[in-house]
Amino acid sequence: MRTENIPVVVVGGGSAAFEAAVAAKQAGAPQVVMLEKAPEPEFGGNARFSHTGFRWVFSGPEEIRRFLPDMDDAMFDKLHIPPYTAEQFHGDLQRVTCGRISKELSDVLVSQSNAAIHWMREVGIKWDIDSHVIIDGRYYFEPGMVIHPTGGVGGGLDQLMQWRAIATKMGIELRYESRVAALLGNDRRIEGVRVSDPNEEYEIRANSLVLCAGGFQASAEKRARYLGANADLMKVRGSKHDTGEVLMIAIDLGAKTAGHWQGAHATPIDATFPDVEISNKANRYGYTYGITVNSLGQRFFDEGEARHSYTYAKTGWAVLGQPGAVAYQIYDQKATPLLNRRYYEFSHPIEADTIDELAKKISIEPAVLNHTIREFNSAVRKDIPFDATKLDGRCTEGITPKKSNWADTIDKPPYWAYAVTGGITFAFGGLQINTQAQVLNTSNNPIRGLFASGDIVGLFFHNYPSCTGQTRNVVFSRLAGRNAAAQGL
Ligand SMILES: Cc1cc2nc3c(=O)[nH]c(=O)nc-3n(C[C@H](O)[C@H](O)[C@H](O)COP(=O)(O)OP(=O)(O)OC[C@H]3O[C@@H](n4cnc5c(N)ncnc54)[C@H](O)[C@@H]3O)c2cc1C
Repeated sequence: MRTENIPVVVVGGGSAAFEAAVAAKQAGAPQVVMLEKAPEPEFGGNARFSHTGFRWVFSGPEEIRRFLPDMDDAMFDKLHIPPYTAEQFHGDLQRVTCGRISKELSDVLVSQSNAAIHWMREVGIKWDIDSHVIIDGRYYFEPGMVIHPTGGVGGGLDQLMQWRAIATKMGIELRYESRVAALLGNDRRIEGVRVSDPNEEYEIRANSLVLCAGGFQASAEKRARYLGANADLMKVRGSKHDTGEVLMIAIDLGAKTAGHWQGAHATPIDATFPDVEISNKANRYGYTYGITVNSLGQRFFDEGEARHSYTYAKTGWAVLGQPGAVAYQIYDQKATPLLNRRYYEFSHPIEADTIDELAKKISIEPAVLNHTIREFNSAVRKDIPFDATKLDGRCTEGITPKKSNWADTIDKPPYWAYAVTGGITFAFGGLQINTQAQVLNTSNNPIRGLFASGDIVGLFFHNYPSCTGQTRNVVFSRLAGRNAAAQGL
């Protein structure tokens, strides 16, 4: 078998991989090669489908201004940019993971998020403002998520195209259709990889290896194995190439695991979309402004617990747990103006002038749906004003489950229903790394030369604050790349 010698090898072709490769080259690695399983037209893993929002610690408008140099002052003055503090980021991570996220790793994530995002700007990534609502001419954002990378194309591919251009300019080689089929070495020292491409199998001897091969979410067999009953039937929001074999090979080598192995990021998505590579078009995150019922006509979770960015990643699971793994989001005409454009552009509502008619159209017993909505309407605290711009405290009283915010009566026809199911984004179970992005073995010692970043790392439990994945990628990839370079020299 042919053998090459390359000091630093990065496995994967998503954003974590590019960030690690660029950091390694910048830190002096003489040669860096990226191995991407997918063919060129499909490169980039989940990052290709990502909205690429970034949640990170920043101090306010002066700092954000440096990311938007081309925006004119009049426009910039319209942006409402309160700071997002380390305490807020820590609080969000702790709360949604039920206190289970590693203290050490979350400290690194939070404390290095600012420097890592500035590093992206310094190496040449271009930015624009992220999703917002405009009220009286002011632009309001989700806390901590004001900007994201866009160089013109938009979406996740935009970030990847920018990274690829930067990496190519630095002399980093990206090999497509290059599946990593084995790791060489043992649980004390990594020695390289075996690569399978369409023409041959060959070995690369490497001093350092950075694993950025994503999670196992696109493997139905592994979803069934780790995520429980019927998880093999989940729709997959991202890349079909993220089938988790590199993660499994590393575990077989003796790597330690971390994160929530029966947990995953799973969101409510349009039930009519295909099974894989669905992207953001199918996102149905407007549930905070209506009610969601199962096919029996009953509500089953608190739709207004918090902003969707703090609940969407677990709400997919709530839907998957219902009969047939399907549910219906129901809105009246007071709520429909609040729905994201994706509701209008990428699907059609099931519409009816009466609840009876709507129930028949979605095959729910009309008497039950009428009862659910009547009961909900009379439980709404109408004395509290409705305010979509904040947690308004307008809740229900006396029904279970409660709706904690944005509870509004459903009484202005025509009524709209959207069929939703749960779509998996990425699995939470992965490899255990330390604060230097080194992969640990089961004796808790670093495997010399082996680093990891991105979805292949186990970090989250139960739930996830939106837009933390991309930030985790850049924070740990920067560390992994720099340390891999030091080892690879
Ligand atoms: C629809 C959608 C929207 C999202 N929106 C956001 C967002 O707004 N903000 C945010 O923070 N996160 C978001 N995410 C999550 C985010 O995209 C991921 O956390 C991130 O892409 C993970 O990056 P990664 O590089 O670790 O993995 P990936 O991007 O999945 O890359 C893994 C790479 O490994 C390659 N690979 C797999 N197996 C092998 C093998 N055997 N050999 C060689 N290569 C292999 C794959 O082909 C791929 O290139 C979103 C995800 C989806 C699907």
